[in-house]
Amino acid sequence: MSSELKFSSEVQGYTNDLYKKIEGSIPKIEWPTIAPYIYEINKLKKEKGITILAHNYQAPEIFYGVADIVGDSLGLAIDGSKVKTDTILMCGVHFMAETAKIMSPEKKILLPDLSAGCSLAESITAEDVRKLKKKHPGVPVVTYVNTSADVKAETDICCTSANAVKIVESLNVDEVIFLPDEYLAKYVSTKTKVKIISWKGKCEVHEQFTENEITELRERYPNLKVVSHPECPPDVIKASDFTGSTGSMIDYVKKSKDKDIFLVTECSMSDNVQVENPHINFVKPCNLCPHMKKITLQKILNSLKEEKNIIEIDKEIISKARGSIEKMIAVGR
Ligand code: SF4
Repeated sequence: MSSELKFSSEVQGYTNDLYKKIEGSIPKIEWPTIAPYIYEINKLKKEKGITILAHNYQAPEIFYGVADIVGDSLGLAIDGSKVKTDTILMCGVHFMAETAKIMSPEKKILLPDLSAGCSLAESITAEDVRKLKKKHPGVPVVTYVNTSADVKAETDICCTSANAVKIVESLNVDEVIFLPDEYLAKYVSTKTKVKIISWKGKCEVHEQFTENEITELRERYPNLKVVSHPECPPDVIKASDFTGSTGSMIDYVKKSKDKDIFLVTECSMSDNVQVENPHINFVKPCNLCPHMKKITLQKILNSLKEEKNIIEIDKEIISKARGSIEKMIAVGR
């Protein structure tokens, strides 16, 4: 990170405690280029009255350094709708910023890099959903929150990785169209009798994990606990001790007495969870999400200054997409 900002004694004093908290993830030599951004961002967001939301996969300097609210994409959108500020800056990817807009249509939603996408969200369009509905008339469409607003608007009900099984079963039908994650669909189908018609979307981060990797790690760490996300391939899930959403993975770690844990998900989440659980050795084959990593402190500062990268969604799409999210919330998060 090039820095035209100074690591003054004021910046040093302001960021000292923060550095102690996250020093395990950031080399000391890099801190003088990072700390001034954290200082400037926190000053500017206060002056302008802007709330910063950050996803669990954001780097520790963002997650702990500048965010006001952290969590998963739905949690961020819901919590963001409750804040008093008129503007929200999302440290996450495009569909997350859209979900925040859907839940807070009256607020200005900023995304520091509008090109921060997602392989899952980009695997399907609203037109694809319309074609599927024609092919399977009357079959309800359940859509994962990792989708665009246009796709959510074509959906009967949304789901998250935490509530997917509950949502599918809440519909009291024999079959559902479940979009867009093929692996999450497979995981859900192991937990319910409802027939699942799936799509071919995949998370490019989770699909990289392999069963072999887990087998090798178990040889090196005989007491290793493997905690995976349901976006992982089925053989990885089968080889895991526990599978759940990012929120359930974090809860698992909090309650765990284990020494060695492998969180089979985006690498930054282990860094962030490590801060609160210093006694655990997180074994980390590191798969980073290239889209999440497009959000940097430099871009956050620019976005706060310029307030340019604004999320715009058609009112009708917002209303339909919100209906699918609200139906899910009524069933239970
Ligand atoms: S980690 Fe996977 S699902 Fe999440 S934003 Fe990146 S590509 Fe999309």
